Amino acid sequence: MLKIDGKLIASELRDKLKKEVSVLKSKYNTIPGLTVILVGEDPASKIYVKNKEKFALEVGLNSEVIKYPESVEEKVVLDKINELNNNPRVSGILVQLPLPKHINKKKVIETILPTKDVDGFHPVNVGNLSLGYDSVVPCTPLGCYLLIKKFEKNLNGKKAVVVGRSNLNGKPMTQLLLKENCTVTITHSKTIDLKGECLKGDIVVAAVGIPKLVKGDWVKKGAIVIDVGINKTANGIVGDVDFEEVSKVAKAITPVPGGVGPMTIACLLKNTVECFKKVQSK
Ligand code: NAP
Repeated sequence: MLKIDGKLIASELRDKLKKEVSVLKSKYNTIPGLTVILVGEDPASKIYVKNKEKFALEVGLNSEVIKYPESVEEKVVLDKINELNNNPRVSGILVQLPLPKHINKKKVIETILPTKDVDGFHPVNVGNLSLGYDSVVPCTPLGCYLLIKKFEKNLNGKKAVVVGRSNLNGKPMTQLLLKENCTVTITHSKTIDLKGECLKGDIVVAAVGIPKLVKGDWVKKGAIVIDVGINKTANGIVGDVDFEEVSKVAKAITPVPGGVGPMTIACLLKNTVECFKKVQSK
């Protein structure tokens, strides 16, 4: 069994991006910029944003974090996004979720220009991905995809099972695997015989939010297993996959922590660089 080292692969991706940013700087005399909007004091969001800023600076991007109190009016956030949409120094805009209840998430996402939507949540990007066109792909499924591809170049005809159908993870993951010619099954809380479905997968991606849901006898021998879950338990952070059991049958598996998590931020930086390149090449 191979433990897929997301930390290492993410750090290799950041190194590659750092070199690319330096080339872009000489070519265009400007660098990609990422602006993150953070509303409120959610402790997990604050940590995520801090890490995003740290790694953005590390690869040489312009990085800015705009913070608002929990009570900020929706209009203030929307006006700021419009201002950033028109700022050529800003290549990517990310509004950290969750937002307070009085701010309409859908409105916020749809205000971001699709060409600066580095989270890939705008309906234009979601639509382009499902049509198989060029699009900005949400960072976590993109990270999972890169981990799978690093390990298995040719996915033609593979059976893939995605557990979870969220817009953030499960659905875009399905689109990426379809594009690679996998036969994809997407499962959810109403799926009958989840274990039986998982057992069919050459690739299993779990994005559920239930600690150690996927057990050793749910996975086919030799499968690749990608664990998106981040679940806080009394015994620390665990994934949606029972790593100890599944690692005995899988060919390759991502650990939690140190698997998909580090790839998410690296892919955010990648998306920012890609958005910059598209604008510059127009
Ligand atoms: P979500 O929006 O809550 O979606 C969970 C999905 O799991 C839903 O589609 C739900 O089905 C399905 N589900 C729930 N219970 C199930 C069950 N018993 N059997 C089968 N499917 C079930 O979650 P998410 O945002 O996709 O996040 C999933 C996990 O990934 C969480 O642990 C989250 O913390 C983690 N995460 C990690 C990263 C990272 O960077 N590694 C990034 C984002 C999220 P229904 O649609 O039927 O309700």
